[in-house]
Amino acid sequence: MKIFENMREWQTARAEFAQNLRVGFVPTMGALHDGHLSLVDRSRAENNVTVVSIFVNPTQFNSADDLKSYPRHVSRDVELLQERGVDYVLLPHESEMYEDRFQYQVIENSESKILCGAFRPGHFEGVLTVVMKLLQLAQADQCYMGEKDYQQFRLVQTMARAFFMKTEIVGCPIVREKTGLAMSSRNERLSTFGRVQAAKLFEVLSTARDTSTARRELESLGFRVDYVEEHWGRRFAAVWLEGVRLIDNVKCAEVAQ
Ligand code: AMP
Repeated sequence: MKIFENMREWQTARAEFAQNLRVGFVPTMGALHDGHLSLVDRSRAENNVTVVSIFVNPTQFNSADDLKSYPRHVSRDVELLQERGVDYVLLPHESEMYEDRFQYQVIENSESKILCGAFRPGHFEGVLTVVMKLLQLAQADQCYMGEKDYQQFRLVQTMARAFFMKTEIVGCPIVREKTGLAMSSRNERLSTFGRVQAAKLFEVLSTARDTSTARRELESLGFRVDYVEEHWGRRFAAVWLEGVRLIDNVKCAEVAQ
């Protein structure tokens, strides 16, 4: 496995890949768990070469505290990726990713304004801009993204089509703990009790009769609710617990009747 911190050096190496290699790409912010690794496994199964990036993207955070407290375990992540058979790891630096000081941005004016976009102003501008840069760097045939961040996956997929990018954006199912809790790097910041409580988010989303019932039930369980809404045949929620923001979604067709 080769690690690149300098993206100009990576671009030189990437240009030398044989033309007929299929390249899969998995962008992450690190603190890897089995959700991330499921994307890596899918990429490995469908491609000749797998590239993973780890970059905690400052422009998508709304608060300096959240950025500072975001979990970081780069050396453990690199070991996990090596064990998993990854070929290349990109560890770009902020100074190189934002040499332009965020002068150029990708802005989406419709679906990025609802759900998380309504509660985290500027978040998707940060996400789409960094993913655009990472897709340009990876030059992959396929990029694997989790449906846990379904709105993000959908926006990246439509962005890639809108800009005639060569990479196909592939959505992958949500990996959950046995309790039903969707795996997330942020779960590390929950207490033992908090993790038990957090699993109820999935339970309520999958069983409540409608979104207002789900909101009421979540509030009575002690969550602070940003939203529970249905779009694109899915039921979405974002809630706060112990100062940690959790998101999840289920297909409406899979909600218990
Ligand atoms: P992150 O490091 O949180 O930015 O996530 C990197 C990628 O992993 C994104 O495409 C996420 O949607 C995906 N991902 C994160 N958690 C999960 C999960 N529990 N199941 C499937 N994919 C996930």
